[in-house]
Amino acid sequence: MGDHSKPIPSEITRSNEQDIRILWKDGHESIYPARYLRLKCPCAGCVDEWSGRRVLRQNEVPKDVAPASLELVGRYAVRVYWNDGHSDGIYTFEFLRDLCPCSQCRISNDE
Ligand SMILES: [Zn+2]
Ligand SMILES: [Zn+2]
Repeated sequence: MGDHSKPIPSEITRSNEQDIRILWKDGHESIYPARYLRLKCPCAGCVDEWSGRRVLRQNEVPKDVAPASLELVGRYAVRVYWNDGHSDGIYTFEFLRDLCPCSQCRISNDE
């Protein structure tokens, strides 16, 4: 687990048409492919509240899904409006940092 301080983004941008890029205050950079992030949507419609089981299926998400817009939620999260019409997902910064798909983060999360 290593670092327990809360992750804070210094920049949230689009890295291209589909992907979201976050530059963190600690200098780390995360690039999230849109579909990867859409499939991880934490809202009650995509994850069963009681069991924590994911109810969203891969084939329900279009291959070319992309963020239509991003909105900051307070100082702790970002809400993504997807071009498939879904916008219930509020991704906290901690959640996003945990999801970072870079090889460095994937290794430390496998411990
Ligand atoms: Zn959702
Ligand atoms: Zn990373």
